[in-house]
Amino acid sequence: MPLFKCTFPGCLQPGVGRQGSCRLCNNHLCTKHLRQDFHHCPDWRVNEREYVIKSTEAEIAEMTALLSQVNVCALRDRAAALRKVDCTVLALSYDHQSRFSVMGGMNYHIPIHFVDGVTWLCRIRRHNITTTPVAHQNRLILSEVATYQFLSSRTQIPIPKVHDYSIYSPSNPIGVGYILMDKLAGKPLSDCDLTDADRECVLSQLADVFAALKQHPFNEIGCLLDPDNLSVGPVLDESTIDADENGNLLLLGPFKSALEYRTASIKHQIELILRGESYSDNAIDAYLVHRFVLDYVIESVTRNEQGPFFLKHMDDKGDHILVDDEFRIVGIIDWEWAQITTQSEAFAAPLYFLDVGLYYSGSNELSRKEVEFASNLKRRNEAGLADLVYGGRVAHRLAHCVGGDTGDIEDLPNHFMGLLRAVLPRNNERETWAHWRGGAMMTYEKDEDLQNLIQKGSK
Ligand SMILES: [Zn+2]
Ligand SMILES: [Zn+2]
Repeated sequence: MPLFKCTFPGCLQPGVGRQGSCRLCNNHLCTKHLRQDFHHCPDWRVNEREYVIKSTEAEIAEMTALLSQVNVCALRDRAAALRKVDCTVLALSYDHQSRFSVMGGMNYHIPIHFVDGVTWLCRIRRHNITTTPVAHQNRLILSEVATYQFLSSRTQIPIPKVHDYSIYSPSNPIGVGYILMDKLAGKPLSDCDLTDADRECVLSQLADVFAALKQHPFNEIGCLLDPDNLSVGPVLDESTIDADENGNLLLLGPFKSALEYRTASIKHQIELILRGESYSDNAIDAYLVHRFVLDYVIESVTRNEQGPFFLKHMDDKGDHILVDDEFRIVGIIDWEWAQITTQSEAFAAPLYFLDVGLYYSGSNELSRKEVEFASNLKRRNEAGLADLVYGGRVAHRLAHCVGGDTGDIEDLPNHFMGLLRAVLPRNNERETWAHWRGGAMMTYEKDEDLQNLIQKGSK
C-alpha cells in the first residue's frame, strides 16, 4: 500500500512520494494528476515569483496551525519545574521574516527564557502534507533523543544537553511531540567564510569527532531505537518507509550486513518506482539505474563494507555545526536522521566538504577540504579513517543514486556515471550516460517490469 493516496477526486492511485505531495494546494497527487493538465500550482522552475507567494501563504497557514496546538502555559510550567527556575515563553506567533532563525525544513524551535539568563529550545516537528505518518514522526523523536543520549554518555562530542522529550500522544499536555534542549550559542559553519587557518582549525576538530565515533562500533545497521534502550532499530530515512494494507508503518531493518542493507534499500526503491511513487519524471532511467546497481554494483561495493558499523550524522551539510568567533565547535546539532551505517558511509567526508558544483556535474575529484581532512587524519595516525575519506565518493554517489529522487532529472545520470567511475574506474572512464543507457535498455530488454513501465507510458 502506498504511504499516500492521490487526493484527486475519484482517483485510487498511489501518490508520488516527495514530488507528489504539494504544500501549496495540500494534495497528494499520482503520476497522472501531478501533470499540468490537472495540477495548476506554480512550478518554482518556471514561475518563481508566483511560487514564492503561494509557498509563503502555505507556510504561514502551516505554522499558524502548528503553533496553535502548543499549550504554552503547560510548556512553561514543565520547563520551570524541570529546572526549578522561573521562565517565560512568549506568545507564539509565526514571523515569516525571521523564520530562518527558528526553523528548518523539518523542525521549529520555541525559545524558553529562564529568569537567570539561560535559554532552552523546545524543538517541535513541522507538519504539512509532506509529513510522514505520526508513527514515523514519533520514532524520529525517540531516535534523535536516543542519539543525543548515546553521544553524551559515551563521547565528548559537543552537543546540546537534552532535558525532556515527548512523542505525540493524547496524554502529552504540551499538545505536540517535542524535545527540550539547551540553546547553543554560535553560528552555522556553512554561513562562515574561512581563512586557511580557520579551516584547519575546524577540520582538526571534525577529525576529533570522526575519531570519537570510530571508538564505538555497532553490530547492526539502523537507527537508535529509544533513549531508554540504546539498541539499534529499523532505518528511518524517508526514502525507505512504507505502509501495509491497513496503513501501518513498514520499516526496513535493522540489518546484520551491508549487503542485506543495500539490497533491501534498492529493492524497496525499485518497488516504489514500479508503483509510480518515486522518480515519476524519469521512471525508466531510475529503474535501469537501480536494477543495474542491484545486479552489478552492490556486491563489489559491499565486499569492502564488512562490519562493524558506526554512527553517522546523515544531514551533514554544514549548518549542523555551530562555531564561535574563533571557529571552535560549540555543538553539533540536528541529529534526527542519524543512522548506524557501514564504515565507508559513516566516514566519507561530510557533504559540507564537497565542492557542490563539481560534484553535481558528475566529477569525482576530491575537494580541497576533503584532501586536507584526510591529511589531517593521517597526521594523527588515523590512516584507516583517512583512506575512508579518500575513497568516500562511492558512498556519496550511492546515497544520491539510490532513492535520491530530487525531482531534477539531470541529477541521476550525473550521480550514476560518477558511481560507475568511482566503483569501476577502468571500464567507465569514457562511458557516457546515453551510451550506458542504450546498453542497459538492451540488457533488460526482456525484463517484465521494464516492459510494464514502457507500456504505461513512463518517461
Ligand atoms: Zn498543488
Ligand atoms: Zn490521481
